[in-house]
Amino acid sequence: MDATYDAIIIGTGQAGPSLAARLSAGGMKVAVIEQAKFGGTCVNNGCIPTKTLVASAYAAHSARRSAEYGVDIGGTVRVDMRRVKARKDEISGRSSRGVESWMRGLANGTVYCGHARFTGPKTVRVNDDLLSADRIFINVGGRPLVPNMPGLDLAPYLTNMSMMEIDSLPEHLLVIGGSYVGLEFGQMYRRFGSRVTIIEMGPRLIGREDEDVSRAVHEILQQEGIELRLNAECLALVRDRAGIAVNLRCTSGPPTEVGSHVLLAVGRVPNTDDLGLEAAGIQTDTRGFIEVDQALRTTNPNVWALGDCNGKGAFTHTSYNDYEIVADNLLSGAARKWTDRVTAYALFIDPPLGRVGMTEAEVRRAGMPALAAKRPMARVARAVEKGETAGFMKVVVDARNQRILGAAILGTGGDEVVHSLLDVIYAGLPYTAVQRGVRIHPTVSELIPTLLGELQPLA
Ligand SMILES: Cc1cc2nc3c(=O)[nH]c(=O)nc-3n(C[C@H](O)[C@H](O)[C@H](O)COP(=O)(O)OP(=O)(O)OC[C@H]3O[C@@H](n4cnc5c(N)ncnc54)[C@H](O)[C@@H]3O)c2cc1C
Repeated sequence: MDATYDAIIIGTGQAGPSLAARLSAGGMKVAVIEQAKFGGTCVNNGCIPTKTLVASAYAAHSARRSAEYGVDIGGTVRVDMRRVKARKDEISGRSSRGVESWMRGLANGTVYCGHARFTGPKTVRVNDDLLSADRIFINVGGRPLVPNMPGLDLAPYLTNMSMMEIDSLPEHLLVIGGSYVGLEFGQMYRRFGSRVTIIEMGPRLIGREDEDVSRAVHEILQQEGIELRLNAECLALVRDRAGIAVNLRCTSGPPTEVGSHVLLAVGRVPNTDDLGLEAAGIQTDTRGFIEVDQALRTTNPNVWALGDCNGKGAFTHTSYNDYEIVADNLLSGAARKWTDRVTAYALFIDPPLGRVGMTEAEVRRAGMPALAAKRPMARVARAVEKGETAGFMKVVVDARNQRILGAAILGTGGDEVVHSLLDVIYAGLPYTAVQRGVRIHPTVSELIPTLLGELQPLA
């Protein structure tokens, strides 16, 4: 059936639903199209389920450490993977159902279930329906990258999506990729009780971070018994009697690792290859990300791209911020730009890494005159009291105007504490504006002014 709307929204990731709700509340007739579970990656196989699993893993880890705190739990710690998965399914499912009923309940909205594809600059086909609108918003997200590697068609492998169905303990999990997704799954499954080997082709884990951050994360994971293979490029997967063999090109260690399960965590690709973008005059870059201007408008002036598919962010908060930018510009006459955003994210291993702004290496490469300070978590009272002293906090400041350039807080509460520095950056203030503030004791945050008082020229 043919239908005309004021707006069409393709995908219910972290931008689409809020945008649909705001447009609908503004009186626009809106079509919302979703091909799979409502809520997209974050809700169904990204942030929410993984952080729910991380919480179960933390509970297991704490239980194993209970004697250190003078607590006797009597007997060995057992993890019931079916209950772990059920808890994850409940939390994730509730969220997905919430998004779906929200969309179905929109006053001026119509939901279509199916794969949307452009047929022209203002038209989209979904199943047998041809929809047209003057404004179309793409929020199609991404999916795990599956490289063209020999053996992937014969040997079973997992991705962050199929990992969501696991309800038993892998005997030996081989994680291919030592970056954010791989490290979270690796530590979590080690804590559940699996043997875990992380295989990374680069010389260090999370290669985008500063070397001291990579080193500290490496030590944290190693101390938990995770085996780490660096400079080890995965060449092929082979089904083996003992499980799945991964053939490696490596400079040290055995050229083959054999495990019971293999998780591919080697990156993500945008869901833009089957969208009919050419029919709408929408250009992508060489990696398939939709080209957008600062206001997230594509090369088709009637179409906007939001979230992971535009390559300007890879997080829930960046996708949601895309929604805020587009909605404020369209409905409130604002002139917001995605380029006003400050880099901010976390790696949710335990302890977590909170990151904002530039890395120390980026500052050095830019040749900026800078000040830096670093403090181990072992010198933070709250961390000592909690018995969680791994990691450090580090801040880099512009020597010319005292503005905070970047920070890394790897340690207990690091994902939360880093926001106090992010707020100073967004406020456009020099670090001295918060240096005399009196903070609550005992917290990790109370050491931020102390850290700022220890700034020295970046050598
Ligand atoms: C394992 C993992 C952990 C993560 N953890 C975090 C975290 O802790 N914090 C964080 O900020 N980010 C995290 N992320 C990233 C985060 O999930 C995404 O950045 C976030 O979901 C934003 O995605 P999006 O809005 O671009 O679209 P998505 O959430 O990917 O949603 C896109 C939707 O569009 C639908 N769709 C696609 N194509 C079509 C089509 N043609 N027709 C109809 N529907 C279509 C899809 O089915 C999907 O529902 C994680 C990602 C992964 C994989």
